[in-house]
Amino acid sequence: MFKYLLVCMILIFSLAGLAFSGDTNIRVVDKPDTEVANDFYVGNRAPLTPSPLIKLPVGAIEPAGWVRRQLELQADGFHGHLTEISQFLKKEGNAWLSPAGEGDHGWEEPAYWLKGFSNCGYILSDERMIKESKIWIEAALASQKEDGWFGPDKGRKGAATGLQGREDLWPNMIMLFCLQDYYDFTGGKDKRVIELMTKYMKYLMTVPEDRFLVGYWPKMRGGDLLYSVYWLYNRTGDKFLLELAEKVHHHTAEWEKDVINWHNVNMSQGFGEAGTFYMQSKNPSHLQAAERNWQKIRDMYGQVPGGMFGGDENCRPGYTGPRQAIETCGMVEMMLSHETLLTISGDVKWADRCEDVAFNSLPAAFTADLKALHYLTAPNMILCDRNNKSPGLQNGGPMLLFDPHDHRCCQHNTGHGWPYYAEHLWLATAGNGLAAALYASSKVTAKVGDGTEVTISEETLYPFDEKISMTITTGKPVRFPLYLRVPGWCKNPELTINKKSLKVNGSGSYIEINRQWSDGDKIQLNLAMKISLRTWKKNQNSVSVDRGPLTYSLKIGEKYVREGGTDDWPAWEIHPTTPWNYGLVLNENKPASSFRVVRNDWPDDNQPFKADAAPIELRAKAKRIPAWQKDHLGLVGKLQLSPAKSSEPTENVTLIPMGCARLRISSFPTIGSGPEAYQWKQPPKIIPATASHCWEADTVAALSDKVLPRSSNDQSIQRMTWWPHKGTAEWVQYDFEKPQKISSAAVYWFDDMGGGGCRIPISWRLLYKEGNIWKEVSNAGSYGVEKDKFNSVRFNPVQTSALRLEVQLQQDFSGGILEWSVDTE
Ligand SMILES: [Zn+2]
Repeated sequence: MFKYLLVCMILIFSLAGLAFSGDTNIRVVDKPDTEVANDFYVGNRAPLTPSPLIKLPVGAIEPAGWVRRQLELQADGFHGHLTEISQFLKKEGNAWLSPAGEGDHGWEEPAYWLKGFSNCGYILSDERMIKESKIWIEAALASQKEDGWFGPDKGRKGAATGLQGREDLWPNMIMLFCLQDYYDFTGGKDKRVIELMTKYMKYLMTVPEDRFLVGYWPKMRGGDLLYSVYWLYNRTGDKFLLELAEKVHHHTAEWEKDVINWHNVNMSQGFGEAGTFYMQSKNPSHLQAAERNWQKIRDMYGQVPGGMFGGDENCRPGYTGPRQAIETCGMVEMMLSHETLLTISGDVKWADRCEDVAFNSLPAAFTADLKALHYLTAPNMILCDRNNKSPGLQNGGPMLLFDPHDHRCCQHNTGHGWPYYAEHLWLATAGNGLAAALYASSKVTAKVGDGTEVTISEETLYPFDEKISMTITTGKPVRFPLYLRVPGWCKNPELTINKKSLKVNGSGSYIEINRQWSDGDKIQLNLAMKISLRTWKKNQNSVSVDRGPLTYSLKIGEKYVREGGTDDWPAWEIHPTTPWNYGLVLNENKPASSFRVVRNDWPDDNQPFKADAAPIELRAKAKRIPAWQKDHLGLVGKLQLSPAKSSEPTENVTLIPMGCARLRISSFPTIGSGPEAYQWKQPPKIIPATASHCWEADTVAALSDKVLPRSSNDQSIQRMTWWPHKGTAEWVQYDFEKPQKISSAAVYWFDDMGGGGCRIPISWRLLYKEGNIWKEVSNAGSYGVEKDKFNSVRFNPVQTSALRLEVQLQQDFSGGILEWSVDTE
């Protein structure tokens, strides 16, 4: 069925100078052989494609080291105590706790939260969390109706989402994951889960085609439901489930054709949907569609480090630089998609990509104590305050503030990031083997070979160190294949089995060791990490510095400033205390040699993702670029072309892993000399402005930002609007630092006819301030109200400290301005 590329070779040990006993076979493979299924763990049942890798039941893997620490911090942090913080988890009136499915709250949030909370509790064997989880699980189990529906019935009737009279299948998709994990946790003993799911799936078969998976979220995220249908099929073999899977795939948004939606969470969750359906279709183009979508997202919006892309709510044309951010939900959903695609395809690249997000992006979305989170995280981010960053970031509001009380979806959903990560460290394989998929200190206990239970203890500080040690404990010798993932970035891993070493060529593959394993056998894997640079041509030739799976950011001093929250659960701003506007000075011929690796002590509290506790750092040379400044929104200024000119002195700077840096520059300009270097321009000086009203997602700074519109409906640039004021008289006003002599002005109106509620105004006029009195300018020409151009007006010169533009909006419409220029002398 599958042809394996034997990437390397079957190693001949005599050539390698090794004296392994004759029955040890080591080879490099691109995935485990699926000729023989796994006898002990539930993989795909025929006719689905055989599973190369199979998730072990929760409890089989005990994470240790820093991964365990993340889970402990999460349990003690906002997520482990969210029932005390979130109004959406209030038990009274919660539709997820009501047998009738009635209540005034409880949509996606309780299920989102339970997914991460319960798994975290199961892994840590935390009695408090297991007990609390059980309340919600029992309620979900008790909520099933005669016809098969379960969960909030208000959702089914549509009150929660406007899907009046049609099923909102979305929140139930999440709860199905919670139920599956609970079932695995009971060792498959609580059959009520199978009964509920079977009855619910039968109900879904009866939902008429025109009402099935309707609504924005259900349609985009149908892949999650599809996964659950296969999960159940693999356990029951009920044939109708394959029919239901076809129905679900058919009604889910067509991710197999393209990236058909640009909402960051939908993308992260949905891009691989066709890869899930591939298990049934066996059409390689379906698996390929997941890769094609991933590449397209990277190509258009992911020309940045950190494993994610710029989707600060939605991806937006023109907003593709490293200061664009990603939602924390996007990160954990992307990780889960990667984990799922890894088990379906066996392909190592999905594990590499999962680590990229987990190490370089996710930790920076939380404070290091996991007691607060923010909504958005960007590769370049120099201030996390509560102030509005829209439209530089799409959403208005305090999106960068670390606040355990806010960021609704992320606050509940992101708890599954670390638990699911921990549950994928080890996977069962076809052929009754085991695979080390994601490396971390841990212990796995599983049945292998002839059914013997073995334990493998893994010790490592990976990704902060290259050495990984494993020890096998078994009651009796047992033959089974052990697969060790070799990441794509590692060109020359070194393998030692019981003190006998061997070099392997096989990046982006697995080392398969098939032998009779004995108690006490030791394996050492050395994944050599080399410094390398990535150049982002589409982002002004900026560069990122990688070493192994970690990407490095400039270390910026972080000052935490309390900004709201409660004393128990405070919210924090983080302000920079050191300069950040550096370009790297690189050794032209050998850029990678421009960095020196410095190792620090492992942090006592086992939490390495802190700026001041980074276990590994890089030293580099850099020069400041004075024209690179914070913009008027408080965002890091946009990058300009590299190499950049700088006449500043060369300084020594420290780079730390991106995941340790909550303030960070991860896409660096480079410093050049000579004629090829670019002189960066100072950003335009914004004229201080006020308005009678400005919509929260817009800004009065747009008036004078000197960004010229392509048309009155140019949605790609910042604007000022009076939205949602309609038909009113409104104004905007410049307040000059010094009195100015002005004799002309020009305004470019915003008008989004066809999509929005802004139109050019009926009329306008200019007033200037004389003393404390506003006077209309005299002898003015015509005040134009034409679209798609500047409307200029000349008038008798005035000397003034403030100029005001008054408009009368059209009835039933609002209005706005893209640019307002004045000729000052
Ligand atoms: Zn979110």
